[in-house]
Amino acid sequence: MAEGIQRYAAVVGEDVIDHLYQLAGPLRGKKVVHVNSTRVGGGVAEILAKLVPLMQELGIDTSWEVITGEDKFYQCTKNFHNGLQGSIVDLPPGLLKAYEETNARNAEELRPTLEAADIVIIHDPQPAPLITLCPNRKGKWVWRCHIDVSRPFRPVWRYLRNYVSQHDASIFSLADFAQPLPHTQYLISPSIDPLAEKNIDLPEEEIQAVLEQYGIDPEKPMVVQVSRFDRFKDPVGVIRAYQLATRFIPSLQLVLAGGEATDDPEGAAVLEEVRAAAGDDPSIFILLLPADANRTINALQRAAQIVLQKSIREGFGLTVTEGLWKGKPVIGGNTGGIRLQVRNHQTGFLVDSPEGAAMRIRYLLHHRSRLEEIGYRAKEFVRENFLLTRHLREYLTLMLGLTHAEEGRIDLG
Ligand code: UDP
Repeated sequence: MAEGIQRYAAVVGEDVIDHLYQLAGPLRGKKVVHVNSTRVGGGVAEILAKLVPLMQELGIDTSWEVITGEDKFYQCTKNFHNGLQGSIVDLPPGLLKAYEETNARNAEELRPTLEAADIVIIHDPQPAPLITLCPNRKGKWVWRCHIDVSRPFRPVWRYLRNYVSQHDASIFSLADFAQPLPHTQYLISPSIDPLAEKNIDLPEEEIQAVLEQYGIDPEKPMVVQVSRFDRFKDPVGVIRAYQLATRFIPSLQLVLAGGEATDDPEGAAVLEEVRAAAGDDPSIFILLLPADANRTINALQRAAQIVLQKSIREGFGLTVTEGLWKGKPVIGGNTGGIRLQVRNHQTGFLVDSPEGAAMRIRYLLHHRSRLEEIGYRAKEFVRENFLLTRHLREYLTLMLGLTHAEEGRIDLG
């Protein structure tokens, strides 16, 4: 039986794996450090948990560091997050002070590792100031943005840009997010791990057992949105869409599954809004799942006829990829990274309102052969574009470029 990275050959082919080894050859022994602000919850943690072990297996000395802070730090970075995604937010000096001090405190501990690294990859705004706190750094530093920064609230971007611009390169998920910066910007889309518990095939009995556990009727149609309770994910809009759709499909059920990222202080308030909007409708299931409920999420996505991701801003939307990979049409908000993944009428539908989402739910549930056809294409689209092996290949290529820039010629196989 194949082990480690070789296991992916069954999904993407042997050549893809050989190419990864080839690209990783010149990077063997290099020290790479990823830095973010949470080990669980949300897309960044999801990706790093899979990417880091594979980079290690390819012989790259990779580590993953997590910075930690107090309430004020997370309030500040949540404001950054909201501001970068276009909301008007306040940046009182007290919060910025907490942000800078938290980074300074984390730098005390991380400085030796970061300064010795060949490549440091800073994920999102939380650890962005670290670069200014590591004056003797020897490697290349890259800022990886996972957020929809197509129309940032200017004061927030102006403040963060001071830090971002000091990096040697940045990575965005799509061209719409690129910003005027004094370095090269790489466009790399995120990915899912097809062999993770969240995405592997599941036995039908396990899927049925999950439905039974939550009292969801397997005989009735069901749509699901898996998301942190965040206003940009528009969970209240999802409930509205469901309510409109039930006029035509009275048996419809809605599952809203979420948990809380440890770095998100707004989750509880949004959850209250969601509960209020759902009222006492017994066909709406609001599930608060622990961070390791990967198989449960997998089962819910597989049990659903349609996966929803009605975000109004979305950096990429791994939940979209997860839904597509399970052969489900995705009805997604017409925004950010969802547009990369949901091709109208091909892999799902892009919508701009609850009414639009309701109309598409109705259409798909009334045209089951279309639903299956779109679902089939959805899975193949992910296989071609959004699996971990492609993501890894692009990271390796970027790292080769950064570490061998002076050689004038780099063989990418
Ligand atoms: N997720 C999870 N539990 C939850 C909510 C989300 O495991 O309660 C996972 C979800 O399956 C996906 C990731 O967290 O893998 C969310 O990534 P996405 O890019 O969709 O959104 P983000 O949270 O990063 O904005």
